[in-house]
Amino acid sequence: MKKNLETLCIHGGWKPGKGEPQQMPIYQTTTFKYDTTDQMARLFDLQDSGYFYTRLANPTNDYVAKKIAALEGGVGAVLTSSGQAASFYAIFNICGSGDHFIASNTIYGGTFNLFAVTMKKLGIECTFVDPDWDDARIEAAFRPNTKCFFGETISNPGVKVFDIERFANMAHKHGVPLIVDNTFPTPINCRPFEWGCDIVTHATTKYMDGHSAQVGGAVVDSGNFDWEAHRDKFPGLTTPDDSYHGLTYTKSFGKMAYCTKLVAQLMRDLGSIPAPMNSYILNIGLETLSLRMRQHCANAQKVAEFLSKSPKVAWINYCGLPTDKYYELGQKYLPNGSCGVIAFGLKGTREDAIRFMDSFEFISIATHVADARSCVLHPASHTHRQLSDEQLRAAGIAPDLIRLSVGIENVDDIIADLEQAMAKM
Ligand code: PLP
Repeated sequence: MKKNLETLCIHGGWKPGKGEPQQMPIYQTTTFKYDTTDQMARLFDLQDSGYFYTRLANPTNDYVAKKIAALEGGVGAVLTSSGQAASFYAIFNICGSGDHFIASNTIYGGTFNLFAVTMKKLGIECTFVDPDWDDARIEAAFRPNTKCFFGETISNPGVKVFDIERFANMAHKHGVPLIVDNTFPTPINCRPFEWGCDIVTHATTKYMDGHSAQVGGAVVDSGNFDWEAHRDKFPGLTTPDDSYHGLTYTKSFGKMAYCTKLVAQLMRDLGSIPAPMNSYILNIGLETLSLRMRQHCANAQKVAEFLSKSPKVAWINYCGLPTDKYYELGQKYLPNGSCGVIAFGLKGTREDAIRFMDSFEFISIATHVADARSCVLHPASHTHRQLSDEQLRAAGIAPDLIRLSVGIENVDDIIADLEQAMAKM
């Protein structure tokens, strides 16, 4: 029976048999016992499936990965210890030294830095493009050694909507996959594979957990990208892996080639698996994801409408507002709501913005977003405080941008807290 997302949130992954625990067990163990050397050898050769060391695979992590893969409609998923690790692995699984990829310049600052600075040190070059440019200007960024295109469904912190179908078509025209960070809408509000995206990443730290309780990430594969059709571009998947007994991932694992390589090679060599305890916490968050997303969106819509009418607000980005630049794209990709995150600027100085944020009663100032609790961040004085106004603009962040993550408290209370803080400006 094909199940809807609300049902998958509860019943995806762990399926208890007779007399087994209703709640998914935590396999808090590093290792798994075998009786013969041959049993263990067959596991190392990938001839048998089974668990032998948690850095490579653990049942608790796998149950949660299965649930996330089902929610996204993918063939498989791998959990990572953070969203950053998920972004890194998604790219590094198909890019090596001398390769190049393209990313939207609107992405989360941490991912931007990973791509622009750290991956460059590994010999992997990233060209950043503005998704608002026309096709010809963006396509000029493709090179013979380009291996993928990366964007965020809803960008952090600008909350701009990424035209998934347009960029999937463009990536495929150049023989590479589209990778989309779907952290903000979650699969409840957008399933990028349905629009041609090939691989999805998540910071499960955000809405999927939703309670500020664990840091984690996920890479999900649609299984749709034909690596063999572009075998010269992706030798890591289509030619024998000497570090794995000469096995060729596409031949041995078909649609699971990308996920298997990610585990067998990257997790083996680099680690970054989540603790099973963290996956357990994440799973409890996932059980209520559909309910919470509905409430986040309903609250954020009302808050955005309130802010858009306030004389103290200079500008606002939220694709649920008909006046928003991304309203049409929002209607296409996010018809049931986008997320709870709003970006806006207040009239006045940086000091006015700081006074506003310091005056909240329960909305917290936090280096976090996409959580049950409403919180704000002022990138110019927090995450990007070392930058001048000019440098901020160059990074696509307005100096007055306030990122408000609308939680699931009573919306009248959230608006009242905003109102009383504005009165103190
Ligand atoms: N992707 C997005 C859209 C994010 O907002 C974040 C963190 O804020 C990340 C990735 C990185 O996730 P993590 O903090 O779990 O490493």
